[in-house]
Amino acid sequence: MEIQNIKGNTYCIDTRMTCIPFYKINDQDIIMLDSGWAEGEQKGIDGLLEKNKFKVVGIISTHAHIDHIGNNTYLKNKYGSIIAMPAYEAYICSSMVNLKAYYSGQTLSDLEKHYGHMICETDKMIIDSQDQVDLCGVKFRILHTPGHSPAHICVITPDDVVYLGDSLISYEVMAGAKMPYAFVLREDLKSKERLYDVKGSKYIVAHKGVYDDITKLITDNINFYKSRAKSIYDVIEGTMTMEDIMKAAIKSFNIHLKTIHKYVVTERMLRSYVEYLNEEGMIELIMENGFLKYSKNITELSQQNLE
Ligand SMILES: [Zn+2]
Repeated sequence: MEIQNIKGNTYCIDTRMTCIPFYKINDQDIIMLDSGWAEGEQKGIDGLLEKNKFKVVGIISTHAHIDHIGNNTYLKNKYGSIIAMPAYEAYICSSMVNLKAYYSGQTLSDLEKHYGHMICETDKMIIDSQDQVDLCGVKFRILHTPGHSPAHICVITPDDVVYLGDSLISYEVMAGAKMPYAFVLREDLKSKERLYDVKGSKYIVAHKGVYDDITKLITDNINFYKSRAKSIYDVIEGTMTMEDIMKAAIKSFNIHLKTIHKYVVTERMLRSYVEYLNEEGMIELIMENGFLKYSKNITELSQQNLE
């Protein structure tokens, strides 16, 4: 783990898995943009902050995913950090029951086991109409990029460094990603399109890298997510239930699922692609003998449905 200066007072903690930017207010006080993953990164981040005698006075969270808000409560308890987050994301991680509304398909006890530490108290809710947030006297510009998660944001530091969170992924991640996650893929692709107009001095992608220009990266991201959707499309034959598609997709993508938790997580990822194909009119959801099934033969089956 190491600290890299990006520009001016904007720095980045490179955890090897993630780039976690922070803004230095003075020699001691810093504002982190996301707080990382607890299980794999807390020890390293904690050690690095102590070594540099940093005090985390604030955290701006881009979205309520486990690898982005994993250390919010830990750091808040330790430093009294003020946490700012998009309002909807803040509600998701405000209680176990709210978390369940987002992570449906898992029991409350199961969620508690895997995501319990994500529960955190947000001090400043960022609402959709807000294009900046003032934290500890520092103004950060906000860009709303929903899709990857319901209310994902990008954050621009006073040095014009754009932190993209998970709105884009790097080439290294693309090379290894089988089904990168999007809550609503169509909206995520729209948000990616909007990034063409964002002008910054540097761009930080959470997973993971620092870029001077992201024009090509945006195009390649859009094409990558669309090509993954096409790969899901290709495994659909005849009429298939979501479970049938899951079976065919994990075989085709060579994914090995050994735990219930991993199955549920993978199913969530798959679902966003299947819903995207459905939204785009490439497949259709029909009722067949009382079961929900997806099919590519749109006109033919629509006609059958009408009969
Ligand atoms: Zn995420």
